[in-house]
Amino acid sequence: MKEVLIATNNAGKAKDFETLFKPLGVKVLTLNDIEGDIDVEETGDTFEANAILKAETVARLLGKIVIADDSGLEIDALGGAPGVYSARYAGAVKNDSANIDKVLNELETTSEGNRGARFRCVLAVAGPGLKTETFSGSCEGLIRKERQGSNGFGYDPIFFVTALNRTMAELSAEEKNEISHRGAALAQLKLKLPHIMTGVGDSE
Ligand code: IMP
Repeated sequence: MKEVLIATNNAGKAKDFETLFKPLGVKVLTLNDIEGDIDVEETGDTFEANAILKAETVARLLGKIVIADDSGLEIDALGGAPGVYSARYAGAVKNDSANIDKVLNELETTSEGNRGARFRCVLAVAGPGLKTETFSGSCEGLIRKERQGSNGFGYDPIFFVTALNRTMAELSAEEKNEISHRGAALAQLKLKLPHIMTGVGDSE
């Protein structure tokens, strides 16, 4: 059976990929299925650079097809911050709540009309004999003045999706997938998957 490895330990992300690959008869593995720790430092200054770095490094180490993603929030009034630093915006230890507090403080005096933002996601696919390819998606919205909703993760409670008149944290997982940056990038990847998987060897 053909295999693809998702460079993540995040079970939620892995599930999205399993849904995508199932109809193609491709087995999805994650870093949890691999012996030993693989930790790739995200030293790039764009989502694309980090996704490529992760996918190519892990593909080289394991000799498998690897998909890596990098994502984050860009806020116009903060010049695109937190950007690639989204996960650890408030400090070295990842803390979603502290990150939100920091953003709300920084935007305290920013008017309603200047609170535009977007989530961005870049997926990179790399592997033996493959030319690395990337797929990206984004989702536009506004940063609220306070938290609303309890679904999702990260900055979802303060990210208002104007088209749906709700924050990301007020959407179900299915609703979020339909409009999210990750959903959009996955849709792009899906279009190219048959082409990517052609010529990839079966595992023993
Ligand atoms: P990573 O791609 O898993 O490294 O995520 C980077 C960070 O961006 C996360 O820790 C979140 O803070 C933020 N982020 C990325 N995607 C989302 C999302 O869908 N909702 C809320 N926050 C997100």
